[in-house]
Amino acid sequence: MPNTYDAIVLGLGAMGSAAAWQLVRRGARVLGIDRFAPPHDQGSTHGETRITRIACGEGPEYAAFARRSHEIWRELEAAQGVDLFTQNGFLAISGAGPRSANHGVEDFLGGTVAAAKSAGVPYELLDAAAIRARYPAFGVADGDRAYHDGESGFVRPERAVAAQLTAATAVGAVLRLDETVTSFAQDGGSVTVTTDKARYRAGQLIVAAGAWLPTLLPPELSQPFSVLRQVLYWFRATSPAAHAEFAPERFPVYIWQLPAPQSIYGFPAVGPFEEGVKLATEQYDVSTTAAAVDRAVTPEETREMYDTYVAPFFPGLSPHCVRHKVCLYTWVDNARFVIDRHPGLDRVIVASPCSGHGFKHSAGIGELLAEMALEGRKSDPKFAFSPA
Ligand SMILES: Cc1cc2nc3c(=O)[nH]c(=O)nc-3n(C[C@H](O)[C@H](O)[C@H](O)COP(=O)(O)OP(=O)(O)OC[C@H]3O[C@@H](n4cnc5c(N)ncnc54)[C@H](O)[C@@H]3O)c2cc1C
Repeated sequence: MPNTYDAIVLGLGAMGSAAAWQLVRRGARVLGIDRFAPPHDQGSTHGETRITRIACGEGPEYAAFARRSHEIWRELEAAQGVDLFTQNGFLAISGAGPRSANHGVEDFLGGTVAAAKSAGVPYELLDAAAIRARYPAFGVADGDRAYHDGESGFVRPERAVAAQLTAATAVGAVLRLDETVTSFAQDGGSVTVTTDKARYRAGQLIVAAGAWLPTLLPPELSQPFSVLRQVLYWFRATSPAAHAEFAPERFPVYIWQLPAPQSIYGFPAVGPFEEGVKLATEQYDVSTTAAAVDRAVTPEETREMYDTYVAPFFPGLSPHCVRHKVCLYTWVDNARFVIDRHPGLDRVIVASPCSGHGFKHSAGIGELLAEMALEGRKSDPKFAFSPA
């Protein structure tokens, strides 16, 4: 029958592009549908860089996904000649006294050490003097200390999505872009997916709709998810010499638990002086929707970001904000992921692994989703709709 597939992937961002590639490489007939043409800047997967780390302070259960993702990105790099993953190391910085929590974890540095031990990631602990000697761009305080490992680094999210979609279409995946799914239903042995342009059928549906997920679920299932507006900033260094201190060879990715309302995280400079250095904080207080989010960033927000979170900690960065970008978290309490079968439709798999730290796991999660759809693999009960 025309328009009939083994599996349909709804949403082709980080998770959906990974799932489509993993499905089709296992021989499945696959249709991927997206309301835009990924990679794009309307969801959760844009802004040049994402931190990746195997030892996750959020919990040891994540390590296997990140490790597998690193392998898959290296395979794609070799196959397509693209640069996806830079292993420039990771610092989790914290200090004495009250500190902001990170992803709901009070002792993120301690959690990261525990995860490193459990995953067998070699690491070291640095005091303030050692951090200053090795990474002079960080204006750490006396008493600050850091976890460091060399297996971590950053991934290029837009390139990773594009590489997976290229790989998938090269071996037969069909993509329908700029087409919006309006509903899906299951009857007996198949799922029907209706879009604003057509109707399709498949044995399995993977819903990887990111911040739009709540609009595709009934109210009792959408309740755990909140959509949170986040802002990424690029500040220019005070001089080309200061910019050089942020080069990937000299500057790691980091998460820094500050004596401030929120932590900050950031990246080395991936472009020239003019393009600035990216860093961000997180906000968990104000929910929005993918349709209603305010994508403009005010000068007041930018000034507050610089005064509170940049100037006191990075003497080498100037107040000149070169760029900013709004991005969306789909948040579940305690930074959890939901990767589970739809409680009412057993041929529908829902994947919402965001909560601000999903990208690093996306290639490995794509493999899990494909094996759930085709081979009956089970997800971890920790990622169930109701973990209880
Ligand atoms: C500011 C920010 C910083 C982050 N930093 C990190 C980090 O450093 N490290 C890390 O590991 N993770 C990080 N994350 C998290 C990570 O980026 C997300 O976990 C990941 O991008 C989520 O991917 P997704 O596939 O769920 O969503 P998306 O990539 O947004 O994909 C969802 C797709 O579904 C499509 N869609 C939605 N509804 C429909 C519909 N009805 N019909 C058709 N298509 C539809 C959308 O167009 C979109 O393409 C960050 C996230 C943000 C926002």
